[in-house]
This record gives sequence, C-alpha cells and structure tokens, in this order.
Amino acid sequence: MPAVSKPGKSQKREPLTIAGQAVALGETRDLELEYSQSYTGIRVSIPVRVVRGSKPGPTVCLIAVVHGDELNGLGILRELVFEKELKLEQGSVVVIPVANASGLEHHSRYMPDRRDLNRSFPGSPGGSQASRLAHLLFNRIIRHCDYGLDFHTAAVRRTNYPNVRGDLTNPDVAAMARAFGCELIVNNRGAEGSLRRTCVDRGIPMIILEAGEVWKMEPGVVELGVRGAENVLKMLRMLPGPIQAPSFQTEIHRTLWVRAEWGGILKFHVLPGEMVKEGQCLATNMSIFGVQQNRLISPAGGIVLGMSTMPAVKPGEPVFHLAIPADSMASLRRKNARRGPDSLHQRIQDELATNIQVSRQT
Ligand SMILES: [Zn+2]
Repeated sequence: MPAVSKPGKSQKREPLTIAGQAVALGETRDLELEYSQSYTGIRVSIPVRVVRGSKPGPTVCLIAVVHGDELNGLGILRELVFEKELKLEQGSVVVIPVANASGLEHHSRYMPDRRDLNRSFPGSPGGSQASRLAHLLFNRIIRHCDYGLDFHTAAVRRTNYPNVRGDLTNPDVAAMARAFGCELIVNNRGAEGSLRRTCVDRGIPMIILEAGEVWKMEPGVVELGVRGAENVLKMLRMLPGPIQAPSFQTEIHRTLWVRAEWGGILKFHVLPGEMVKEGQCLATNMSIFGVQQNRLISPAGGIVLGMSTMPAVKPGEPVFHLAIPADSMASLRRKNARRGPDSLHQRIQDELATNIQVSRQT
C-alpha cells in the first residue's frame, strides 16, 4: 500500500469548520457557500456536503464542475456520496459537487465574466467574479482540507481516455495518483492559477481526473471515478478494504499533439486509449470530395490520451494528444494483453469509441 507521509492536520482541529459552520464528528451536514448575487439582487450560493466519520482523521476535498460544462465529476460525486451514502471509518470528506454553478447554468466551461475559474486560484476578495469565487472556495472550504481530488473532462469536441494528473515530484501527490487506479498517470503540476497547483504549493496534495467528454455523465467514467475516489480514501484508511488496481499503470512525463495540416474531413484509424507505434497512420485527411490530402502519422510510440470527436478540421487544429509512457511500449502491450474484456478500462475504451466512426487500415 502506498505510504502517505503527511498526517491529517485536521486531526488536531475540532470541530471542523467549513464555510463558516462547525460540523461535529459523526455528523453529515449540507451547507451553502454564498458567493455572489444575481442582477435582481438574489443571493446565489454553492451547495456543499460535509460527511464526517465518528473518529478524527484526514479531511479530503472532492470537487467537481470547476469547468461548468464538465459533468462527469458531478456524476461521480452523486454516485459516491449520495447514491451509495458514503460512510467513513475515520476522517472527513468535504464535497463540492458544482464549483462553477453559473457555468453549469449556462452550459459553459467559463464564468459569466468569461474567465476560467481554474486559472483564478487562489483568487482575491476584491477581484473579478472568477477571482472572488476562487478566493471564497479556497479560503472558506479547501484551505481546511488536507487532500483534494478534482474531476475534469476534455474540452468541448474532444474526449480524454481516463488519466490522473498531478505533480509527481510531491510524494503525497504521487501516492494519491497511484492509489486512484488509472492506467495512465500524467506528471503535470497544472497551469498557473489552477486549483491543483495552488493547493500543492500551499501544502494540500491534490490530483485531478481527466476523463471523457463535456455535457455527459458517462457510465464507465463514473464507475472509474467512484472506484478511484474510494481507492484514495482506502489509502488514507478512511474506508475499509483493498485498493482496486488496474492491470497496468505507467507514468507519463511527455505528451505530444498531432495536428491537422489541411482543411478537410478526417477518417480516424485509432481510438482513445489505443496503443500506437511510431510511424503508424492515425487518421487520413480527405477533401470534401473524398480525395486523400494527407495522413496524420504518429511521431512516436505511445497511447492515445485524448482526441477530437469532430472529424472536420482546419490546419493547426489538434487532433490527437499522445501520451509517451516512461515504461517501454512492449512491456505495456504485454500487460495490456492480459486485460480481460470485462476490465473497467476496456469497457471505458469501448464506450468512449461509440460516437466516433473509425475505419481500420488494412
Ligand atoms: Zn476541466
């Protein structure tokens, strides 16, 4: 079992105070964090649930919909916390199912001021809308937690094969990332102003899950997210039972983008999560009249981490995001071959592919 070096600092703090409200051991409480007002002066707030075990222990923040159109995380938290009625042996979980409530209302990644909440942390009380919300979320809730999990999807018109991302130079982040149980662990500390980078810089280990598409709750992704969150809580001894590991795990220290060179319509030849070889044709770019224009060739052996779901492209547009694993592709292929058709990662790979037309090259 991975070791986590940092003891839960909130073990020393009783009661736990979240959004200005004290929550006692053994209590489950729904709270609201007021963060703004509408044009008509109506107060708007973010819902928060605090679940506490009967014994003290670490406090873990679970946060979703920081990008307002990325709903898989909401599906994961709904299943984990509300459907399964999460009960902890020790410690506390602070659940923020919808961080960017106005983004969700408008089906948008962004805040109403067109800023990205995930570039606005730690925020400021006198700043923009996004900066104020970031400041409130961080200071009233997240700062009181010891660990964090943040759930994301690919941006619009793209899908991501599930992967966790974090600053693997931090041992606690690395332990969480491994325990979560994705095949792919991307070493990436996040952009300036992102929640995970801000948290890690301030001593709160945090990872993100990147999986699936916007505007959906995808069943395999939800299952994986629930399993991953439970795995992390098991590692922290907040839940009983063994960690459920995938058939292989590899770290990714380098990723590459393969971009379109011509305006046209793509025939995809590979799918999310697929292992590809250097020089392999990933897609063929056809003119609108069906004439081949060019082929998109993989510049290295790797795994399709993310790809466009929209086959119409212009020059420069990103089509494939390739993960270049630290382990040899040959060893990963051998381990992957042992993965059964019922494996969760295989089901997710099949599910993510259902809305993408693929023509295999013969
Ligand atoms: Zn996101």
